[in-house]
Amino acid sequence: MAGFSPCRTRASSARISRSSHGGLWPNGLDVLGDLGVRERVCRLGNTSADYRLRTASGRVDTTIEFPNVGPEPGFVVVHRADLHEALLETVPEQRVQFGTTVEAIRERADTVDVELSTGETRDYDLVVGADGVGSAVRRLCFDSEFLDPVDTGVWSFWTEATAPFPEEITSLSGPATEAILVEIDGRGLVNVATKLESEDEPAPTADRLRTVLEELGWVLPATLDRRTGPLFADHVREVTMDRWIRDRIALIGDAAHAVHPISGMGAALAFEDARTLADRVDRSSTVPGALEGYFRDREADVRSVQRDTAVMEPFLLADSRALRLLRDGVLSATPLVEWALRRRIRALTPNEA
Ligand SMILES: Cc1cc2nc3c(=O)[nH]c(=O)nc-3n(C[C@H](O)[C@H](O)[C@H](O)COP(=O)(O)OP(=O)(O)OC[C@H]3O[C@@H](n4cnc5c(N)ncnc54)[C@H](O)[C@@H]3O)c2cc1C
Repeated sequence: MAGFSPCRTRASSARISRSSHGGLWPNGLDVLGDLGVRERVCRLGNTSADYRLRTASGRVDTTIEFPNVGPEPGFVVVHRADLHEALLETVPEQRVQFGTTVEAIRERADTVDVELSTGETRDYDLVVGADGVGSAVRRLCFDSEFLDPVDTGVWSFWTEATAPFPEEITSLSGPATEAILVEIDGRGLVNVATKLESEDEPAPTADRLRTVLEELGWVLPATLDRRTGPLFADHVREVTMDRWIRDRIALIGDAAHAVHPISGMGAALAFEDARTLADRVDRSSTVPGALEGYFRDREADVRSVQRDTAVMEPFLLADSRALRLLRDGVLSATPLVEWALRRRIRALTPNEA
């Protein structure tokens, strides 16, 4: 579509997000490559090839290797602020309007009127809701919230990265809990997910985190003692929609299909959505046609991640002793995880799948 000129509103200029890091797979890295920031993001993040798997019982403690994609790393964990910084530099400054949100959206025959919190009303050819799991665009434009609370609490915090913080990217599994520890640029990042009694349990507290970390043992309690920044805590919420487009409104990323963070795929899905939508808008002669193409191109990938996550989540956050023993047995006695990791990286590498 000729003359397409995007404008982006953002509620806050602060680099605050639902978690302080993101693990990116080859599909997400490929989009960063198209934007010319892949190398920079990899330089700023942790691209260590070693991935250590441990169980709280100590029965499993093994290191597997992330395969590279050609000469490039197949996986990077990056600080959100660095990722945002790198991405923002690809957008002309005048296209981003900070401190603004949408109050109302009205679709007309050929345009969409958007009322902003500044009091202005503007009309656009197309509105894209890239506003995360609690999307205002989704609430304003679709029939329902499509927001499902999940019985999982998550915490994320920075800590000192000196010993006993592990050097490798480390995943520690305990009863109904998984913690990931990553060193990024001299700082230690800890992400914890644990099953709650129910999705109605009150918001995950710092006290609850302390208990969870003490149950996990190993270096985990020390990481909290040596915390260096604020504590992020939240309930996991998922978004499941039949369709995340309508005539001139499109949702991308978590606004369209937030998945359980245990999948580690939300950010890559968001990047791929954005690229596909931009490509469809570029190639189509009408906005509704572009959005239809965008939805068709993305639906299968999104559903596949949703399905895989539903299978993976009970296994990774296993509560029952029997399931944990099975998981630990698989981790310690078979190369299944390494095989699955290699398979995932191959499947997510463009031109390799
Ligand atoms: C603890 C945790 C760990 C995770 N780990 C990983 C991981 O390792 N790998 C991975 O791929 N994914 C991970 N995820 C998921 C990942 O964070 C999300 O899938 C990803 O951030 C989605 O990107 P998004 O741009 O759609 O939404 P967001 O990153 O949530 O961005 C939405 C943006 O919209 C802005 N906004 C919100 N409302 C408004 C409004 N009304 N008006 C204007 N602006 C607004 C927000 O300020 C924000 O900047 C994790 C999530 C959590 C909670």
